[in-house]
Amino acid sequence: MLCEAEHVLVCARCGRVFKRVVFRCPSCGGLTIFKYSDKSFSVDKSYPGIWRYRFQLPKISKTISRGEGLTPINKVMGVLVKNERFNPTGTYADRASSIISSYLLSSGIDRVRVRFEEDFTYSLAYYLDGALQVEILVDDPLSLDYSDIAVLSRAEGVSLSLESSSLGESYLSYVNPLTIEGLKTISFEIYERKVGVDRVVVPAKTGLLAFSIWKGFKDLEEIGLDIPYEVAAVFIKGSKNSFPLDLARYVKVYEIERDEVLRSLLKLCKKGFVIKPLSALAFTLSDILSNSLAIVTMGFRSLVRSNTRNTNVRREILQVLKSYGEATAYEVWKKLPIYTLRGIYKVMSSMEERGEICVEIRSRGARKVKYYRMC
Ligand SMILES: [Zn+2]
Repeated sequence: MLCEAEHVLVCARCGRVFKRVVFRCPSCGGLTIFKYSDKSFSVDKSYPGIWRYRFQLPKISKTISRGEGLTPINKVMGVLVKNERFNPTGTYADRASSIISSYLLSSGIDRVRVRFEEDFTYSLAYYLDGALQVEILVDDPLSLDYSDIAVLSRAEGVSLSLESSSLGESYLSYVNPLTIEGLKTISFEIYERKVGVDRVVVPAKTGLLAFSIWKGFKDLEEIGLDIPYEVAAVFIKGSKNSFPLDLARYVKVYEIERDEVLRSLLKLCKKGFVIKPLSALAFTLSDILSNSLAIVTMGFRSLVRSNTRNTNVRREILQVLKSYGEATAYEVWKKLPIYTLRGIYKVMSSMEERGEICVEIRSRGARKVKYYRMC
Protein backbone atom coordinates (compact mmCIF):
# COMPACT_ATOMS: atom_id res chain seq x y z
CA MET A 1 0.00 0.00 0.00
CA LEU A 2 0.99 3.62 -0.26
CA CYS A 3 3.17 5.12 2.45
CA GLU A 4 1.30 8.37 2.62
CA ALA A 5 3.75 10.49 4.53
CA GLU A 6 6.16 10.84 1.61
CA HIS A 7 3.91 12.47 -0.93
CA VAL A 8 0.64 14.29 -1.27
CA LEU A 9 -1.56 15.16 -4.21
CA VAL A 10 -2.46 18.77 -4.88
CA CYS A 11 -5.35 19.94 -7.05
CA ALA A 12 -3.86 21.94 -9.92
CA ARG A 13 -6.96 24.13 -10.05
CA CYS A 14 -7.98 24.95 -6.47
CA GLY A 15 -4.89 23.87 -4.50
CA ARG A 16 -6.68 21.41 -2.22
CA VAL A 17 -4.27 18.86 -0.75
CA PHE A 18 -4.97 15.12 -0.54
CA LYS A 19 -3.08 12.52 1.46
CA ARG A 20 -4.58 9.66 -0.52
CA VAL A 21 -4.55 9.07 -4.26
CA VAL A 22 -7.44 10.80 -5.99
CA PHE A 23 -7.44 11.16 -9.77
CA ARG A 24 -9.64 14.23 -9.87
CA CYS A 25 -10.34 16.83 -7.16
CA PRO A 26 -13.76 16.06 -5.63
CA SER A 27 -14.29 19.80 -4.91
CA CYS A 28 -13.65 21.33 -8.32
CA GLY A 29 -12.96 18.43 -10.72
CA GLY A 30 -9.40 19.67 -11.34
CA LEU A 31 -6.49 17.39 -12.19
CA THR A 32 -4.44 16.37 -9.14
CA ILE A 33 -0.64 16.36 -9.15
CA PHE A 34 1.88 14.51 -6.95
CA LYS A 35 4.20 16.52 -4.68
CA TYR A 36 7.11 14.93 -2.86
CA SER A 37 8.80 15.66 0.41
CA ASP A 38 12.08 13.86 -0.49
CA LYS A 39 14.59 16.59 -1.21
CA SER A 40 17.28 14.71 -3.03
CA PHE A 41 17.61 13.16 -6.45
CA SER A 42 19.15 9.74 -6.37
CA VAL A 43 19.14 6.92 -8.84
CA ASP A 44 18.63 3.39 -7.53
CA LYS A 45 20.13 1.23 -10.25
CA SER A 46 19.07 -1.93 -8.45
CA TYR A 47 15.46 -1.24 -9.52
CA PRO A 48 14.34 -2.05 -13.09
CA GLY A 49 13.07 0.36 -15.73
CA ILE A 50 11.76 3.72 -14.59
CA TRP A 51 11.79 2.58 -10.95
CA ARG A 52 15.45 3.58 -10.79
CA TYR A 53 13.89 6.99 -9.93
CA ARG A 54 11.68 5.53 -7.21
CA PHE A 55 12.58 8.28 -4.71
CA GLN A 56 10.70 10.75 -6.93
CA LEU A 57 7.83 8.44 -7.88
CA PRO A 58 4.67 7.46 -5.99
CA LYS A 59 5.54 5.21 -3.06
CA ILE A 60 3.91 1.95 -4.11
CA SER A 61 4.57 -1.42 -2.46
CA LYS A 62 4.50 -3.56 -5.63
CA THR A 63 6.41 -2.33 -8.62
CA ILE A 64 5.80 -3.71 -12.10
CA SER A 65 8.42 -3.06 -14.72
CA ARG A 66 8.73 -4.69 -18.12
CA GLY A 67 11.88 -2.88 -19.12
CA GLU A 68 10.36 0.51 -19.97
CA GLY A 69 12.46 3.65 -20.10
CA LEU A 70 16.16 4.36 -20.70
CA THR A 71 15.33 4.88 -24.36
CA PRO A 72 18.27 5.77 -26.61
CA ILE A 73 19.27 9.27 -27.67
CA ASN A 74 20.94 9.60 -31.04
CA LYS A 75 21.18 11.81 -34.11
CA VAL A 76 18.89 11.24 -37.08
CA MET A 77 19.62 13.44 -40.10
CA GLY A 78 21.30 16.00 -37.86
CA VAL A 79 18.48 16.12 -35.29
CA LEU A 80 18.99 14.77 -31.79
CA VAL A 81 16.11 12.43 -30.91
CA LYS A 82 15.06 10.40 -27.90
CA ASN A 83 13.31 7.44 -29.46
CA GLU A 84 10.45 6.15 -27.33
CA ARG A 85 9.91 3.25 -29.69
CA PHE A 86 12.42 1.34 -27.58
CA ASN A 87 9.84 0.74 -24.88
CA PRO A 88 8.28 -2.73 -24.48
CA THR A 89 5.14 -2.01 -26.52
CA GLY A 90 6.86 0.64 -28.59
CA THR A 91 5.48 3.81 -27.00
CA TYR A 92 6.03 6.10 -24.03
CA ALA A 93 2.62 4.97 -22.70
CA ASP A 94 4.57 2.05 -21.18
CA ARG A 95 6.06 4.46 -18.64
CA ALA A 96 2.53 5.36 -17.52
CA SER A 97 1.40 1.72 -17.54
CA SER A 98 4.27 0.73 -15.26
CA ILE A 99 3.09 3.18 -12.58
CA ILE A 100 -0.64 2.57 -13.09
CA SER A 101 -0.39 -1.24 -13.05
CA SER A 102 1.83 -1.07 -9.94
CA TYR A 103 -0.71 1.16 -8.22
CA LEU A 104 -3.69 -1.00 -9.19
CA LEU A 105 -2.05 -4.23 -7.99
CA SER A 106 -0.81 -2.62 -4.75
CA SER A 107 -4.28 -1.29 -4.02
CA GLY A 108 -5.92 -4.71 -4.20
CA ILE A 109 -8.25 -3.60 -6.99
CA ASP A 110 -9.38 -6.63 -9.02
CA ARG A 111 -11.09 -4.96 -11.95
CA VAL A 112 -10.51 -1.80 -13.91
CA ARG A 113 -12.47 -0.05 -16.63
CA VAL A 114 -10.50 1.91 -19.18
CA ARG A 115 -11.51 3.88 -22.19
CA PHE A 116 -9.91 2.64 -25.40
CA GLU A 117 -6.98 4.83 -26.38
CA GLU A 118 -4.82 3.32 -29.05
CA ASP A 119 -1.32 3.04 -27.54
CA PHE A 120 -2.23 3.26 -23.87
CA THR A 121 -4.82 0.47 -23.88
CA TYR A 122 -2.45 -2.06 -25.46
CA SER A 123 0.28 -1.00 -23.12
CA LEU A 124 -1.81 -1.29 -19.95
CA ALA A 125 -3.18 -4.71 -20.97
CA TYR A 126 0.41 -5.86 -21.58
CA TYR A 127 1.56 -4.59 -18.18
CA LEU A 128 -1.34 -6.07 -16.24
CA ASP A 129 -0.93 -9.38 -18.09
CA GLY A 130 -4.09 -10.93 -16.69
CA ALA A 131 -3.31 -9.94 -13.09
CA LEU A 132 -6.67 -8.21 -12.90
CA GLN A 133 -9.73 -7.91 -15.08
CA VAL A 134 -9.59 -5.08 -17.59
CA GLU A 135 -12.78 -3.92 -19.18
CA ILE A 136 -12.12 -1.80 -22.22
CA LEU A 137 -14.82 0.63 -23.19
CA VAL A 138 -14.81 1.61 -26.82
CA ASP A 139 -16.17 5.03 -27.70
CA ASP A 140 -16.57 4.41 -31.38
CA PRO A 141 -16.51 0.66 -32.15
CA LEU A 142 -16.51 1.27 -35.90
CA SER A 143 -13.20 3.12 -35.64
CA LEU A 144 -11.41 -0.03 -34.46
CA ASP A 145 -9.69 -2.12 -37.04
CA TYR A 146 -9.70 -5.89 -37.00
CA SER A 147 -6.14 -6.21 -35.71
CA ASP A 148 -7.01 -4.06 -32.65
CA ILE A 149 -9.90 -6.36 -31.80
CA ALA A 150 -7.87 -9.51 -32.47
CA VAL A 151 -4.96 -8.52 -30.23
CA LEU A 152 -7.01 -7.21 -27.34
CA SER A 153 -9.65 -9.93 -27.34
CA ARG A 154 -6.94 -12.60 -27.07
CA ALA A 155 -5.21 -10.86 -24.14
CA GLU A 156 -5.74 -12.56 -20.79
CA GLY A 157 -8.16 -10.91 -18.38
CA VAL A 158 -9.37 -8.43 -20.98
CA SER A 159 -12.99 -7.93 -21.95
CA LEU A 160 -13.99 -5.55 -24.70
CA SER A 161 -17.16 -3.60 -24.26
CA LEU A 162 -18.22 -2.17 -27.58
CA GLU A 163 -21.04 -0.14 -26.14
CA SER A 164 -20.10 3.49 -25.97
CA SER A 165 -23.22 4.15 -23.87
CA SER A 166 -21.56 2.49 -20.86
CA LEU A 167 -19.00 5.33 -20.81
CA GLY A 168 -21.25 7.25 -18.49
CA GLU A 169 -19.94 5.26 -15.54
CA SER A 170 -16.57 5.89 -13.97
CA TYR A 171 -13.48 4.66 -15.78
CA LEU A 172 -9.73 5.15 -15.65
CA SER A 173 -8.73 7.87 -18.08
CA TYR A 174 -5.22 8.15 -19.51
CA VAL A 175 -5.11 11.73 -18.21
CA ASN A 176 -4.46 11.14 -14.52
CA PRO A 177 -1.71 11.94 -11.98
CA LEU A 178 -0.12 8.46 -12.21
CA THR A 179 0.33 8.82 -15.98
CA ILE A 180 2.10 12.14 -15.38
CA GLU A 181 4.47 10.47 -12.90
CA GLY A 182 5.32 7.77 -15.43
CA LEU A 183 5.86 10.12 -18.36
CA LYS A 184 7.98 12.55 -16.34
CA THR A 185 10.73 9.91 -16.10
CA ILE A 186 11.71 11.04 -19.62
CA SER A 187 12.97 14.26 -17.98
CA PHE A 188 14.89 12.36 -15.33
CA GLU A 189 16.66 10.34 -18.03
CA ILE A 190 17.57 13.53 -19.92
CA TYR A 191 18.88 15.09 -16.70
CA GLU A 192 20.77 11.95 -15.65
CA ARG A 193 22.48 11.76 -19.06
CA LYS A 194 23.27 15.50 -18.93
CA VAL A 195 22.12 15.94 -22.53
CA GLY A 196 23.68 19.16 -23.84
CA VAL A 197 20.70 20.97 -25.39
CA ASP A 198 18.65 24.06 -24.48
CA ARG A 199 15.22 22.60 -24.97
CA VAL A 200 13.18 19.44 -25.23
CA VAL A 201 10.64 19.44 -28.06
CA VAL A 202 7.56 17.37 -27.36
CA PRO A 203 4.88 16.35 -29.88
CA ALA A 204 1.51 17.45 -28.52
CA LYS A 205 -1.91 16.04 -29.21
CA THR A 206 -3.45 16.80 -25.83
CA GLY A 207 -0.36 18.31 -24.18
CA LEU A 208 -0.22 15.64 -21.46
CA LEU A 209 3.27 14.45 -22.44
CA ALA A 210 4.65 18.01 -22.58
CA PHE A 211 3.13 18.85 -19.22
CA SER A 212 4.56 15.65 -17.69
CA ILE A 213 8.05 16.40 -18.98
CA TRP A 214 7.77 19.93 -17.59
CA LYS A 215 6.65 18.42 -14.27
CA GLY A 216 9.69 16.12 -14.19
CA PHE A 217 12.04 19.09 -14.58
CA LYS A 218 10.00 21.07 -12.03
CA ASP A 219 10.34 18.25 -9.46
CA LEU A 220 14.11 18.40 -9.95
CA GLU A 221 14.13 22.19 -9.58
CA GLU A 222 12.17 21.92 -6.36
CA ILE A 223 14.89 19.66 -5.01
CA GLY A 224 17.27 22.55 -5.73
CA LEU A 225 18.86 21.30 -8.93
CA ASP A 226 19.76 23.59 -11.79
CA ILE A 227 17.77 22.54 -14.85
CA PRO A 228 18.93 24.09 -18.14
CA TYR A 229 16.04 22.82 -20.27
CA GLU A 230 13.02 24.61 -21.66
CA VAL A 231 10.07 22.44 -22.70
CA ALA A 232 8.47 23.17 -26.07
CA ALA A 233 5.10 21.61 -26.91
CA VAL A 234 4.35 21.53 -30.60
CA PHE A 235 0.86 21.21 -32.03
CA ILE A 236 -0.36 20.94 -35.60
CA LYS A 237 -1.83 24.35 -36.37
CA GLY A 238 -5.57 24.36 -35.91
CA SER A 239 -5.67 21.16 -33.82
CA LYS A 240 -7.72 21.30 -30.64
CA ASN A 241 -5.90 21.21 -27.33
CA SER A 242 -8.04 19.29 -24.87
CA PHE A 243 -5.63 19.26 -21.92
CA PRO A 244 -7.46 20.24 -18.71
CA LEU A 245 -4.79 22.81 -17.72
CA ASP A 246 -3.63 25.94 -19.53
CA LEU A 247 -0.49 24.47 -21.06
CA ALA A 248 1.02 27.86 -21.99
CA ARG A 249 1.45 28.59 -18.27
CA TYR A 250 3.98 25.76 -18.02
CA VAL A 251 5.66 25.23 -21.38
CA LYS A 252 6.36 27.12 -24.57
CA VAL A 253 3.65 26.32 -27.11
CA TYR A 254 4.42 26.19 -30.84
CA GLU A 255 2.14 25.53 -33.78
CA ILE A 256 3.35 24.17 -37.09
CA GLU A 257 1.50 24.37 -40.37
CA ARG A 258 0.23 21.05 -41.73
CA ASP A 259 2.19 21.52 -44.98
CA GLU A 260 5.42 21.87 -43.07
CA VAL A 261 4.72 18.65 -41.14
CA LEU A 262 3.88 16.77 -44.33
CA ARG A 263 7.10 17.91 -45.99
CA SER A 264 9.09 16.65 -43.04
CA LEU A 265 7.13 13.41 -42.93
CA LEU A 266 7.83 12.82 -46.60
CA LYS A 267 11.52 13.56 -46.17
CA LEU A 268 11.79 11.01 -43.35
CA CYS A 269 9.70 8.43 -45.22
CA LYS A 270 11.97 8.71 -48.25
CA LYS A 271 14.90 7.83 -46.00
CA GLY A 272 12.98 4.73 -44.88
CA PHE A 273 11.84 5.93 -41.46
CA VAL A 274 8.42 5.05 -40.17
CA ILE A 275 7.21 7.96 -38.12
CA LYS A 276 3.82 9.28 -37.08
CA PRO A 277 2.88 12.85 -38.06
CA LEU A 278 3.08 13.96 -34.41
CA SER A 279 6.64 12.70 -34.07
CA ALA A 280 7.53 14.30 -37.39
CA LEU A 281 6.18 17.52 -35.91
CA ALA A 282 8.64 17.41 -32.99
CA PHE A 283 11.40 16.43 -35.38
CA THR A 284 10.65 19.40 -37.65
CA LEU A 285 10.54 21.94 -34.84
CA SER A 286 13.77 20.60 -33.32
CA ASP A 287 15.41 21.00 -36.70
CA ILE A 288 14.16 24.60 -36.99
CA LEU A 289 15.07 25.68 -33.45
CA SER A 290 18.36 23.71 -33.30
CA ASN A 291 20.12 22.89 -30.04
CA SER A 292 17.08 20.79 -29.15
CA LEU A 293 16.18 17.22 -28.32
CA ALA A 294 13.02 15.84 -29.96
CA ILE A 295 10.90 13.21 -28.27
CA VAL A 296 9.85 10.84 -31.07
CA THR A 297 8.61 7.35 -31.82
CA MET A 298 10.23 6.21 -35.02
CA GLY A 299 11.29 3.02 -36.72
CA PHE A 300 12.85 1.90 -39.92
CA ARG A 301 10.57 0.40 -42.53
CA SER A 302 12.89 -1.19 -45.02
CA LEU A 303 14.22 -3.63 -42.42
CA VAL A 304 10.78 -5.15 -42.11
CA ARG A 305 9.71 -5.08 -45.73
CA SER A 306 12.71 -6.19 -47.70
CA ASN A 307 16.20 -7.52 -47.34
CA THR A 308 17.59 -6.17 -50.54
CA ARG A 309 16.79 -2.49 -50.11
CA ASN A 310 18.70 -1.99 -46.87
CA THR A 311 21.50 -0.04 -48.47
CA ASN A 312 21.72 2.49 -45.65
CA VAL A 313 21.74 0.03 -42.80
CA ARG A 314 24.22 -2.24 -44.60
CA ARG A 315 26.55 0.69 -45.08
CA GLU A 316 26.20 1.64 -41.39
CA ILE A 317 26.86 -1.94 -40.25
CA LEU A 318 30.02 -2.02 -42.38
CA GLN A 319 31.15 1.26 -40.81
CA VAL A 320 30.70 -0.16 -37.30
CA LEU A 321 32.60 -3.34 -38.21
CA LYS A 322 35.36 -1.24 -39.75
CA SER A 323 35.77 0.79 -36.56
CA TYR A 324 35.50 -2.18 -34.20
CA GLY A 325 37.53 -4.68 -36.24
CA GLU A 326 35.03 -7.32 -35.18
CA ALA A 327 31.75 -7.26 -33.31
CA THR A 328 28.71 -9.36 -32.47
CA ALA A 329 25.35 -8.41 -33.97
CA TYR A 330 24.33 -7.18 -30.51
CA GLU A 331 27.38 -4.91 -30.28
CA VAL A 332 26.57 -3.53 -33.73
CA TRP A 333 22.98 -2.85 -32.67
CA LYS A 334 24.20 -0.95 -29.58
CA LYS A 335 25.90 1.47 -31.99
CA LEU A 336 22.83 1.69 -34.26
CA PRO A 337 19.87 1.73 -31.86
CA ILE A 338 17.61 3.46 -34.37
CA TYR A 339 17.08 0.00 -35.87
CA THR A 340 15.54 -2.95 -34.04
CA LEU A 341 17.84 -5.66 -32.73
CA ARG A 342 15.86 -8.21 -34.72
CA GLY A 343 16.29 -6.12 -37.86
CA ILE A 344 20.05 -5.91 -37.34
CA TYR A 345 20.23 -9.70 -36.85
CA LYS A 346 18.26 -10.27 -40.05
CA VAL A 347 20.30 -7.89 -42.16
CA MET A 348 23.63 -9.18 -40.81
CA SER A 349 22.73 -12.80 -41.49
CA SER A 350 21.68 -11.94 -45.04
CA MET A 351 24.95 -10.01 -45.47
CA GLU A 352 26.74 -13.12 -44.22
CA GLU A 353 24.88 -15.31 -46.73
CA ARG A 354 25.81 -12.97 -49.55
CA GLY A 355 29.44 -12.90 -48.43
CA GLU A 356 29.43 -9.19 -47.69
CA ILE A 357 30.82 -9.82 -44.20
CA CYS A 358 32.74 -12.70 -42.68
CA VAL A 359 31.92 -14.55 -39.52
CA GLU A 360 33.81 -16.56 -36.95
CA ILE A 361 32.06 -18.62 -34.28
CA ARG A 362 33.74 -18.74 -30.89
CA SER A 363 32.76 -20.18 -27.51
CA ARG A 364 31.97 -17.78 -24.75
CA GLY A 365 31.37 -19.98 -21.69
CA ALA A 366 28.71 -22.49 -22.68
CA ARG A 367 27.48 -20.29 -25.54
CA LYS A 368 28.57 -20.08 -29.12
CA VAL A 369 28.91 -16.47 -30.23
CA LYS A 370 29.17 -15.17 -33.79
CA TYR A 371 31.79 -12.48 -34.35
CA TYR A 372 31.46 -10.52 -37.57
CA ARG A 373 34.18 -8.64 -39.42
CA MET A 374 34.88 -7.16 -42.84
CA CYS A 375 36.07 -9.87 -45.23
ZN1 LIG B 1 -9.77 21.37 -6.82
